[in-house]
Formats: sequence, structure tokens, C-alpha cells
Amino acid sequence: MKRLLTLIGSLAVVGLLMAVVTYRFLLPLYSNSQSNSLDPIANWFRDPASRPGLTTRMEGQACPGAPFILPSDGFIGLLWDDPAGPYTVLGTHSGIDIFGDGEAGTVPVRAVYDGYLTRLDEWLSTVIIRHDDPLETGRTIWTYYTHMAPRDGSESYIVEAFPAGTIEAPVKQGDLLGYQGEFAGAGRAPIGLHVHFSIVLSEADGSFKNEALTVNTLDPSPYFGMMMRISDWPERPIGCT
Ligand SMILES: [Zn+2]
Repeated sequence: MKRLLTLIGSLAVVGLLMAVVTYRFLLPLYSNSQSNSLDPIANWFRDPASRPGLTTRMEGQACPGAPFILPSDGFIGLLWDDPAGPYTVLGTHSGIDIFGDGEAGTVPVRAVYDGYLTRLDEWLSTVIIRHDDPLETGRTIWTYYTHMAPRDGSESYIVEAFPAGTIEAPVKQGDLLGYQGEFAGAGRAPIGLHVHFSIVLSEADGSFKNEALTVNTLDPSPYFGMMMRISDWPERPIGCT
């Protein structure tokens, strides 16, 4: 009986170790192999000379036939449904990350389409805009923009027109919302300068769903007329399709 218990205990330890190895090492390794985003992102930060060659610059113009303008000029690095680290195939990236070439607080972030802007009381670096979906009549969607604060969270880079607590302020496509920053949330390590953008679905009551889950978001590709989903494995820089 004692031997049996020892055996069971040993098997449990081996199983736990295997689970830890799988989760900590094999899962990230496999996830990164399902993406082409990490190398150019690393280049972007390591070698500023790589930046012009990675940048998508639309100057406020939409791609032909597409409803949305880009929220920011820059390198469209991490893509929609991207499993590259810090994400994994079990929890992919819900939007796109656009890395601007400039100092924190200087690269403009703009509304992609006409709508109504909300900034919750507790949002330092985030706004969300409600839209009538231009690609599916009668549906309400939301566009979400975050990381608009300096790395220490000491201020907000969102423009004064949209203070915390703003509810349903009308905005037009191209309106300035704020500037790219490096803030990832209180208590979190700062991130490289970028804006995170996603298209979020509505709950049955019309409120926005939890943006952090990819299942609650839409592939931005048809809205921008660009290949923005990782499974399309686009060449960089991404341009109009
Ligand atoms: Zn992101």
C-alpha cells in the first residue's frame, strides 16, 4: 500500500512537471511558430533604420472601398488573432498593434470612423467608440484604442476634449483622440510605444463585450482593406489589398 502511494505520488509529480514544461516552454514555442510578427517587431526596436521599411503611412486616407482609416501611422506589428508572445494559441491577440516612430506622447491616434466616444471613469489610457457597423447594416460595433499614457501612468495622452467619465461624445472619422504611449496598466511593466486597436462586438443589451477575448472581436481586415489577420501571414509592411 505504501509503495502504491509512493508510485502514485511520483506519477503526480512527473505529471505536474510535464504540465509546467508544456505550459511555460512548449506552448510559447509552438505559439511563436504560428506567427511572423516577432522578428520584425524585434527589428523595429533594435534597429531604428528598419523603421521606414516597416511603416504603413496612410496620411489619414482609407484604402479604396474600405470604410475605416488607420488609427495611427506606423508599423502594423502584432496582428489580429496573433499567438506570438506574450500571447499564445490559447489566448491570442484581440486587435492590432501599430508601433509609431516617435517619442511617447507625440504620435497621433485618430478615430477610424464616425461614432460616439466613451471613456470610463477609471480609464487613463483608453477610449472606445460606438459605431453603426458599415459592413453589416443594423449591427452595433465598437472600436477600442489603448496605451495612450506614459510608461509610469503619471498623466494621460488622451486629448482634453475627452476627460475620464465621457459618455457618448460624438466624433468624426479622423478626429484626434490622443497620442501613442507605453502604459500597459497599473502595476504592469511598460511596453514599447504603440496603440492597441480592436473592433469589439456588442452584448445583447447593446454594451460592449470584453475586448480582451479574441472571440468578442472582429477581424479588422475588411474594415481597413488590409491583411491584418495572422492566418493570412501578410508581408510587412502591410498595405492596401
Ligand atoms: Zn495589442
